[in-house]
Amino acid sequence: MAKKKLVIIGAGLVGSLLGIFLSRRGYRVSLFERRPDMRDHAISAGRSINLALSDRGIKALEEVGIMDSIREIAIPMHGRRIHNADGSSAFQPYGKEGQYINSVSRGELNARLMDLAEENGVDIFFNRRCTNIEWDRNLIHFTSEQEARQDAVDADLIFGADGAYSAARLTHQLQHDRFQYQQYYIDFGYKELAIPPGTKGEFQLEQNALHIWPRGNYMLIALPNTDASFTCTLFFPFEGNPSFESLNNPQAVREFFNEHFTDASQLMPNLEEQFAHNPTSSLVTIKCYPWVREDKFALIGDAAHAIVPFFGQGMNCGFEDCSVLDKLVSKYEGDWKSILPAFQELRKPDCDAIADLAINNFVEMRDKVADPEFLLQKKIEAAFSKKHPDKWTPAYSMVTFSPEIRYSEALNRGLKQEAIMRKIMQMNRIETIWDSTEIEQQILKYLAE
Ligand SMILES: Cc1cc2nc3c(=O)[nH]c(=O)nc-3n(C[C@H](O)[C@H](O)[C@H](O)COP(=O)(O)OP(=O)(O)OC[C@H]3O[C@@H](n4cnc5c(N)ncnc54)[C@H](O)[C@@H]3O)c2cc1C
Repeated sequence: MAKKKLVIIGAGLVGSLLGIFLSRRGYRVSLFERRPDMRDHAISAGRSINLALSDRGIKALEEVGIMDSIREIAIPMHGRRIHNADGSSAFQPYGKEGQYINSVSRGELNARLMDLAEENGVDIFFNRRCTNIEWDRNLIHFTSEQEARQDAVDADLIFGADGAYSAARLTHQLQHDRFQYQQYYIDFGYKELAIPPGTKGEFQLEQNALHIWPRGNYMLIALPNTDASFTCTLFFPFEGNPSFESLNNPQAVREFFNEHFTDASQLMPNLEEQFAHNPTSSLVTIKCYPWVREDKFALIGDAAHAIVPFFGQGMNCGFEDCSVLDKLVSKYEGDWKSILPAFQELRKPDCDAIADLAINNFVEMRDKVADPEFLLQKKIEAAFSKKHPDKWTPAYSMVTFSPEIRYSEALNRGLKQEAIMRKIMQMNRIETIWDSTEIEQQILKYLAE
């Protein structure tokens, strides 16, 4: 099996990790990346400066032995710090005590994955943009803008790990009859803004939290970086009032931030400049099928299933793809005619599920986290789950801290639990009896139905 020549298009987070898994199984793996080597060039790391890494991603990183090195650059975030419109703030833990997610720099993480891939014998070729795949010959065409040249590479098996706007998907799968493809843009875009470290190099907001300014139809979030800065992301409508379109001059931007994100605004001395220069980007969900062709081609990561970032799961899901694929390589002993169909059959329902969960979580993050009724519901769920951990795991915990629960199961169980909680929240005097045996018994009864 080691003789097979494997090519991965895209040395992003998922492509690099996949390269490590496959080379450890004895394959000759080459990675082709459109950008220059980010370890030598100060280039933008991609779509977000830092990411929330949680248990599914951690599990995959542990499997290849790199997690200890990643912990050095990870900042634990134990919960959400909610900055309310009236200036008050509240802390909401993410899970049980000791459970947390991690803020990690995309560029650092990607660079360490590339290092480990090379240590495992993977060849990485930079400045190679895939422009076409001749799928009847499994021949990949690349151009290099930097070196003004074109070349073609053949492979026994090609992985398209080239992200949401995958050229591999476009020039291979989309050319086939009966390929299902759906892309859905939400009406909101995002813009990244930085809060610098304080004058003594200190964090200017609580370090170990994911900060959210929920404002109903829009929100600002902030994740900490190891240099004591924060990267904020404004999720905002493209059109309407307020929107990216309506905040069309520096004064309007500053006035808006002063009014709606008062504390954050004070920490961004060059807000106007950042707002004008940093790009406004769109958010897309992509679903497609099939992901694989015989034993010759497969899509993986965002190329197969791009999702919106509101559950912090896109990368984690892509890392889980790699882990699942690796187990199938072992199970079917390198028989790719069995591995690839099994991979898509297992992963497609799970990736569809996390795509839907992520869309739903946008409303929770931008609006409900500041709603007292929602907070009471979460308190009831947490109390019940503490007493009956075998019967109830909150949806957020299933997705984020329970890699043994498949995303599709988390979605189904979460929907069932939500329906029960809707009935519980309608009970008389719920604010006073929320902690009572009556409520506990009622939930048990609904669960048994
Ligand atoms: C604003 C935002 C915030 C996010 N936050 C989180 C988070 O907190 N947690 C989380 O888990 N996920 C998060 N995500 C999702 C995460 O960024 C993606 O799921 C993840 O980057 C997918 O990795 P990938 O390797 O599949 O694709 P990418 O990271 O897009 O990598 C693709 C690679 O392929 C290369 N490439 C592209 N085209 C070609 C070509 N034609 N030829 C050769 N190479 C090519 C690219 O240069 C890149 O290196 C977020 C996404 C966004 C947009």
